[in-house]
Amino acid sequence: MAEDADVIVVGGGLAGLVAATEIADAGKRVIVVDQEGEQSLGGQAFWSFGGLFLVDSPEQRRLGIRDSYDLALQDWMGSAGFDRDEDLWPKRWAEAYVAFAAGEKRGWLRAMGHRIFPVVGWAERGGYDAMSHGNSVPRFHVSWGTGPGIVEPFERRARQAQASGRLTFKFRHRVDALSITNGIVDGVSGAILAPDHVERGKSSSRKVVGDFALRAQAVIVASGGIGGNHDLVRQNWPKRLGAAPKSMISGVPDHVDGILVLSGGESPDLFALRGTAATISSEGRLVEALDLARRFPQARIVFSGVEADVARAAFAQMGAPMDRFTFENRARNSSSR
Ligand SMILES: Cc1cc2nc3c(=O)[nH]c(=O)nc-3n(C[C@H](O)[C@H](O)[C@H](O)COP(=O)(O)OP(=O)(O)OC[C@H]3O[C@@H](n4cnc5c(N)ncnc54)[C@H](O)[C@@H]3O)c2cc1C
Repeated sequence: MAEDADVIVVGGGLAGLVAATEIADAGKRVIVVDQEGEQSLGGQAFWSFGGLFLVDSPEQRRLGIRDSYDLALQDWMGSAGFDRDEDLWPKRWAEAYVAFAAGEKRGWLRAMGHRIFPVVGWAERGGYDAMSHGNSVPRFHVSWGTGPGIVEPFERRARQAQASGRLTFKFRHRVDALSITNGIVDGVSGAILAPDHVERGKSSSRKVVGDFALRAQAVIVASGGIGGNHDLVRQNWPKRLGAAPKSMISGVPDHVDGILVLSGGESPDLFALRGTAATISSEGRLVEALDLARRFPQARIVFSGVEADVARAAFAQMGAPMDRFTFENRARNSSSR
């Protein structure tokens, strides 16, 4: 049977877009199949902070952070605790990824126009030293523009490849099975879902209007894992961790029912003096809180931090829907919120 493309990529999240654009730019024909509509291209990464793991970057060096491939690999090994046969490939992947993060990753992204916020933060800080788990130095490099800032270069490349005919998107195509011939995966099949123009991040309809089958030399599955399906997570819960938790959270909810805005920058002293909201920095947080209240009319908004009383007064002066806000003024830092 004729092939529809050289490669089929299942999933148009960031992993799928990276794979598909590299394949298309290598001159191959690629089909990206995604169960969601075009408006959701980029998947979870759009909502993410766009924080990237980089090792010994110019941003770190400018801040006096001394990092190296060896230190990063030691941190990774300390966290992973690889100690059994089936750890072979995860261990090799870790070595390759740390080499990528200490090598070509930043330059590769930069050449596509990606930029980094010049303050490097902590993520997975862990045990505070180089001998225990977690990062022993800051390595969290936030993309300029956060999640959309990391999706943009790959979406742009994908659109260029689409225009040149090397990349085809098949949205609202849900893959239900891989086809296997003589032990080799050579295609996918599944259901065509009814068009749905629901906003990005909201649940789309699962109504099936047809079926499809596609064939290619190779199939890459980049469908984002099983974290969004709590039943599957429970089914696959490792025995050594005991019973799975009764309640779990997913990264991206179907709808927004609550928003937390961290205060900062409002001046209680100037407010006391002038009786009107004064800010010394971060005015954007006040504006953003009001904008989020408008965009998510069902959501409750918690404004938290020592300056929350200034925000309360300011919002009241501006005629904001006060019954939807909670002002919490006891938290002093992120961990006490
Ligand atoms: C709020 C938030 C903040 C985050 N912040 C960071 C951060 O700062 N740094 C960081 O490194 N990571 C962060 N992450 C995690 C990171 O965003 C994700 O790990 C990453 O984007 C996953 O990309 P992916 O392409 O593997 O999967 P996804 O983005 O989940 O994409 C999978 C795609 O596959 C499609 N799909 C699934 N099943 C099928 C099927 N059967 N048929 C067809 N299509 C299918 C889905 O519709 C989706 O488009 C964050 C995540 C969230 C939610």
